[in-house]
Amino acid sequence: MIKGMLGIAFLWPFISFYWGRQKADRFWEERCKEWSLPKGIGTTKYLKVLPLIDWYTKDKSLATEPGVSYLIKTEKDMILFDLGYNVHNEHPSPLLRNMSRLGINLDDINAIAISHPHVDHIGGMKNQVKKTFSLTNDYIDLSDKAIFLPPGMSRPDLNTMQVYRPIKIAKGVISTGPIYSSQFLIGNTLFPMGITPEQALVVDVKDKGLVILVGCGHQGLDRILQLVDQLYKRPIYGVIGGLHFPVTKSRISKLGGKFQVQQYLGTGKLPWDPITKEDVMAQISNLKSYNPSLVSLSAHDSCDWSIGAFKDAFGPCYKELFVGEEIQI
Ligand SMILES: [Zn+2]
Ligand SMILES: [Zn+2]
Repeated sequence: MIKGMLGIAFLWPFISFYWGRQKADRFWEERCKEWSLPKGIGTTKYLKVLPLIDWYTKDKSLATEPGVSYLIKTEKDMILFDLGYNVHNEHPSPLLRNMSRLGINLDDINAIAISHPHVDHIGGMKNQVKKTFSLTNDYIDLSDKAIFLPPGMSRPDLNTMQVYRPIKIAKGVISTGPIYSSQFLIGNTLFPMGITPEQALVVDVKDKGLVILVGCGHQGLDRILQLVDQLYKRPIYGVIGGLHFPVTKSRISKLGGKFQVQQYLGTGKLPWDPITKEDVMAQISNLKSYNPSLVSLSAHDSCDWSIGAFKDAFGPCYKELFVGEEIQI
């Protein structure tokens, strides 16, 4: 009996991985492919993306982390996309410290969107365990913000909305909803966690086009591009954010650097079959076929080799992503 239970516990990550892949593909075929663009989205005259948390900065007074938080400024709104890692459970968190350093007032932010429930996007491990989020390790009143979460996440003290399909979240801005895939690298069926729903944002910038903002990119870049193409049927102007290409190194490691976490977990493949350079080159070549004018890859879940490959491939269209440096469109 005990042996049987131990066996199931050992096999469970594999069962949930393979079962999750099938479920994810079914979801994509039966739902995502039927999704259409919500009505009355509108456009914004401009888009400014200010990385508040990421891996690299040129300004030593700003904190960096293997996490993501970007401030998205449009003509009408200020949206906080993800909330960083806060790996040491601090208050004020690196995110709050950077906000204060960069002169960002929380009161000016009217919406929060969380890409997916991983440590590096929701303010730490204790939040991942509870499938919730926080800006810092103390109470902060967020009751005046519109909050958009992927399925499965919650914050009982706040009025939040779980996003199940593409919806308008601000003028000119949609959430793609959780894209499911078992392909590539991926999809968001991860070992050993199983299905991990992740939403990306799309901003329609007047006279420029569509800019896609991605958190970790577990959905697989190919599926994100496919869905945005299906929804808008218009050219894609830019892609900014994390795409999970840790080929030669991870930014998060355990056991004194011996276990490179992102290389082996969170890729959508089994741990002994990590992402290869060929995988990344195939994704680059697919993205090139969309002819984007702006590509900016987060270093929080991609290694320097992958960043170099993107730089080489996109040349003057590639923009390096630094905390504190606004990307203006
Ligand atoms: Zn991430
Ligand atoms: Zn993730």
